[in-house]
Amino acid sequence: MLRGAFEWWRRRTGALTTNFAEAGGFFRSGPDVDRPDLQFHFVVGKLVDHGRKTVFGHGYSFHVCLLRPKSRGSVTLASADPAAAPRIDPNFLAERADVDVLVRGFKAMRRILAQRALAGHGARELATSASAQSDAEIEAFIRAHADTIYHPVGTCRMGRGALDVVDAELRVHGVDALRVVDASIMPSIVSGNTNAPTIMIAEKASVMIAEANHPPEPTAMTVPDYYGAEAQR
Ligand SMILES: Cc1cc2nc3c(=O)[nH]c(=O)nc-3n(C[C@H](O)[C@H](O)[C@H](O)COP(=O)(O)OP(=O)(O)OC[C@H]3O[C@@H](n4cnc5c(N)ncnc54)[C@H](O)[C@@H]3O)c2cc1C
Repeated sequence: MLRGAFEWWRRRTGALTTNFAEAGGFFRSGPDVDRPDLQFHFVVGKLVDHGRKTVFGHGYSFHVCLLRPKSRGSVTLASADPAAAPRIDPNFLAERADVDVLVRGFKAMRRILAQRALAGHGARELATSASAQSDAEIEAFIRAHADTIYHPVGTCRMGRGALDVVDAELRVHGVDALRVVDASIMPSIVSGNTNAPTIMIAEKASVMIAEANHPPEPTAMTVPDYYGAEAQR
């Protein structure tokens, strides 16, 4: 680490230029699943508790992420004071199916780590997870150690139901001239990271807002699209 820090300070190169999550992949937890329901992150360091706990020595980490959880959390008001923080309950692992998929992902992770390319490094699993062998033990480990990968969505979800907040143009139901444009409008979470889809929502909303204020001419016309290319409308 010291050598790496020195190299980065002098040349801005070396081991410390890593983004840490160097590799990843999308994975189906079983043959009955039509598209990946798990995401793997491979981190070139021993990452425990989001990096809050320091673990010394060489190592790497493998993280298994449940892409389409069935459990639903909630955000509710804690008080009538608008400045008060809301009550956030992620309600992780409330649904049995979520735990089952994660247990399958955990076992797939072990199979991948046992392949020659990685096993050749001679790494040993940290004691905290190594003792989890049976499905029940793996579940207990997951319940004790699983946490978030920071992709909460859906607290102002788009839809027509009684609990849905915005319509298809992202206007808040029952309120004039108010839209919500962020990750909260996703009716359900996308099967992957949420940053790019949120940017896509914002770009789409900016077009909808512009068109609402300046509706396009009814006759065919050529207008520049968002990226400057000519598009036929
Ligand atoms: C640590 C971390 C790592 C992540 N890594 C990735 C990743 O690698 N890849 C990926 O795709 N996604 C990642 N995400 C998720 C991604 O950042 C979010 O999905 C995305 O930023 C959501 O965009 P948003 O506009 O909905 O909310 P935000 O980006 O949170 O924007 C909300 C904005 O509102 C502002 N705000 C809040 N309250 C008020 C107020 N009262 N008045 C005015 N402004 C206010 C905030 O300051 C903020 O700027 C990560 C998230 C975190 C927290």
